[in-house]
Amino acid sequence: MLIVDNLAAGYGHVQALKGVSLKVDDQAVVTLIGSNGAGKSTLLKTISGLLKPKAGSIVFEGREIKGLDPDKIIARGIAHCPEGRKVFSELTVKENLEMGAYLEKSKAKVEARIENIYASFPILKERQSQMAGTLSGGEQQQLAIARSLMLDPKMILFDEPSLGLAPIIVDLVEDIIIKMKKRGITILLVEQNANMALRVSDYAYVIETGRIILHGPSSELKKDERVMKAYLGQLEVCRV
Ligand code: ATP
Repeated sequence: MLIVDNLAAGYGHVQALKGVSLKVDDQAVVTLIGSNGAGKSTLLKTISGLLKPKAGSIVFEGREIKGLDPDKIIARGIAHCPEGRKVFSELTVKENLEMGAYLEKSKAKVEARIENIYASFPILKERQSQMAGTLSGGEQQQLAIARSLMLDPKMILFDEPSLGLAPIIVDLVEDIIIKMKKRGITILLVEQNANMALRVSDYAYVIETGRIILHGPSSELKKDERVMKAYLGQLEVCRV
């Protein structure tokens, strides 16, 4: 569904991606794991059009999307759920959800999507009239995810959905990803929480300083000594 080939991108003289290639099959969950500053967010920003690449190609459903403006990429069916629980704090939960469906002209369809969201995220229904800025961190993350779903995307780019959340909310995020996969949404998940990412994904890539250094089925990468040492072991220590 998505083929990224030899992608190079950066900020001024900072070369954040140095020829990244990866692919995401239709309805698969693919994860990209890596430490701080490895280039994970840059890759997602480049795919969603927020950052213009310097070289390489990005093909989605057989068509080149590299260099298109973000609204055109959204219209093709790719939603980007950015890092940091970005919600409109001065709007209510329901207004945030309505904003998420801004491409949909039919009010009835928007309402139906909101009802669907409420069925999967009951806390958002309870809080629908509350200002988003007053929600807890975990609730804001759920709202950010739900808002991306309001676009009814074919594919979601998830940037660190578990960052800074309590373990119980991380479990909830994991459940949400599993449910989205069951609904047929293709997912590219960027995570530092390698334990969760490898559990929930079919295939994984490891990125270090702008280069893919390892990739394979998640079930195999979980057992890879380099991954265990650099990403999984570290996390166990953090959890203790
Ligand atoms: P994290 O997990 O900490 O978010 P990441 O893997 O997502 O890390 P990126 O945010 O993609 O990493 O950053 C990759 C590199 O690009 C880093 O060296 C970072 O300092 C640099 N970088 C990111 N954003 C900018 C920017 N706006 N201007 C200049 N350099 C940037």
